[in-house]
Amino acid sequence: MLDRYFPPLLLLLWLCLCPAFAASYWDVLSRSLHDDPVSVSERATQLLDDYRDKGDKPNELQAVLLLVQAKITTQEFRSLDALLPRGLVLAKEQGNSAAEARLQLADVRRLALLGDKKAANRLLDTVLVRTQNPKLSRERGMAYIEQALLLQDQNRVSEALPLLFKAYTLFSDLGLQVESGEALNSIGNAYINMENYKEAGNYYQRALAGLDPKHDRHTLVVRLHNLGASLYLNKQLAQAERTLREALSYAEGLKEQAGIAVVRYRLSLILIAQHQPEQALRLLDSAQTVFERDNNLELICLSLLARSEALAMDGARASKVALEALEKAQTLNDRIPSERRELAMREAASRIYKLLGRYPEALAELEEWSKTYRSNNLRLNRALLTEMQARFDAQRQQVEFALLTSEKKRHAAELQAGQNRRLLLWLGLAACILVVLALMLLLSRQIRQKRRFADLALMDELTGAPNRRHILAYGKGQLDACRAVGQPYCVAMIDLDHFKSINDRFGHEGGDMVLRQFAAACQHALRQGDLLGRVGGEEWLLIMPSTQGSELPLVFTRLRDAVQTQAMPGLPAELRVAFSMGAAEAIPGESFDKLVQRADTAMYAAKKNGRDQLCFAETGKH
Ligand code: GH3
Ligand code: MG
Ligand code: MG
Repeated sequence: MLDRYFPPLLLLLWLCLCPAFAASYWDVLSRSLHDDPVSVSERATQLLDDYRDKGDKPNELQAVLLLVQAKITTQEFRSLDALLPRGLVLAKEQGNSAAEARLQLADVRRLALLGDKKAANRLLDTVLVRTQNPKLSRERGMAYIEQALLLQDQNRVSEALPLLFKAYTLFSDLGLQVESGEALNSIGNAYINMENYKEAGNYYQRALAGLDPKHDRHTLVVRLHNLGASLYLNKQLAQAERTLREALSYAEGLKEQAGIAVVRYRLSLILIAQHQPEQALRLLDSAQTVFERDNNLELICLSLLARSEALAMDGARASKVALEALEKAQTLNDRIPSERRELAMREAASRIYKLLGRYPEALAELEEWSKTYRSNNLRLNRALLTEMQARFDAQRQQVEFALLTSEKKRHAAELQAGQNRRLLLWLGLAACILVVLALMLLLSRQIRQKRRFADLALMDELTGAPNRRHILAYGKGQLDACRAVGQPYCVAMIDLDHFKSINDRFGHEGGDMVLRQFAAACQHALRQGDLLGRVGGEEWLLIMPSTQGSELPLVFTRLRDAVQTQAMPGLPAELRVAFSMGAAEAIPGESFDKLVQRADTAMYAAKKNGRDQLCFAETGKH
């Protein structure tokens, strides 16, 4: 309750990030807030006016920040209406995003306390986004605390608590002692809301550690009050009383009327629980005056209830005034409906009626209490159910989304793997084709080489014509073949005329050229099946299967024409290459060698007869 009246000191260190100019001055003032927010508020108002008049905008912003914080601490929210917009303009102008975030957080608090939860949540969302920036970690922690407060207002304490722990971790990591203490205090408040008073006490105790009784009196009042309240709720009355008396002495030292009143009210509850109604009533008298002055309906209502109970303890004597107080409290309570307070009201009313010996009313109040409790619980359960459903849906959506994503990933991976496989296949295929091509190339080379070797074995190297071995073998084979089918068969020996003189005139190379050109000319002029082979230096053997002797003059002429018209590169055009030819037609039963010999003899005869002519072996005539 006191934490509402003295709001959590979230924004206590707002001014720690003041600009270099007069930074320490602002720091001192800011620190004084823990001690005496009222004086700081007055000083900040003066400073604000001064700096505004001087047009010193950076210091004007610092003054606004300080004043905003002071007003929040003393719960004077109305004065924030004009302050916050001005501060935001200044912060924006100066690009001071930390100040902007803090002012927005103050606005969130203002909106929440005015009851506009939607606007508060909306603004808080933007602050949460803005403070993702690592430079604004402190402000992010503050935003978590604001978010936790808003959640607690909606009875969502279980969601608020993790946020408070997050804020605490963030502050302790940053080494921010004041903010860490504030977070611990808020955690205590959350445990109070969860009705775990023991744990709440532990956290309030931790929040008290490190506070200085000389400089942190205001904070001490708030935290001691909270600790006292938790002890009272945990039924540790003696300890609670001690703690609250300590809080009261600090509050009195500060002359903080509002604070004093709240602590006195709390103390009165303990005294009532300890059956000391007179003392309690004294405390309540002074507290109620302050609450009425501040028009704090909630506290007026609660103190009336306490008063009624204290009066009822006096028995029938004060019965009338006790009932009056109770009635007033009930009327007030109807103006500010709250389920939690209604339960407390009914419980207290039942106690009061019991003290006054009015048992039927006491019972009726208890019945009402249990009705409200049940419907409350039902509503809460329904809300919890809806919340669980929403969470379940959100989680399911998350899981579905994750599944979809992983499915997509798997699909993409499969696609990729397929592509890789295909690529590999193609690469393999290409490699195979290359290997096959290389093998084929190798093979064809080998074949060509083999063929070349074979050709070389059968070919005359200088002229490319069949060599002696080849032409003799061919001649023999063809003779046998012709005989087998009864075909005629002729051979002819050819010897170039005066070849020696060609060599002499044009050198050995010239002679070689004549030999090559002679072979080429004959090759073109010969018929299919006829074959000319070189059997010696300038001696040739011509094999003519299926040829009669009578055809040979024509063969000779054709060869002579071809040789004479054959170009002889590098040699004089008038050079006339001639040859003598001795021919023989195979006689039945004659051997191939004999036949060749006869042709050779005929060739010599042609030489003898004057060269450049054909001689027949049989007749020796041409
Ligand atoms: P004939 O008309 O009586 O046949 O006279 P010839 O000069 O042609 O006769 P001969 O048999 O005396 O000469 C043949 C010459 O051919 C001798 C040799 O030097 C030459 N000869 C043999 N083989 C080759 C060769 O491969 N290249 C060259 N350039 N000359 C060769
Ligand atoms: Mg010769
Ligand atoms: Mg010759």
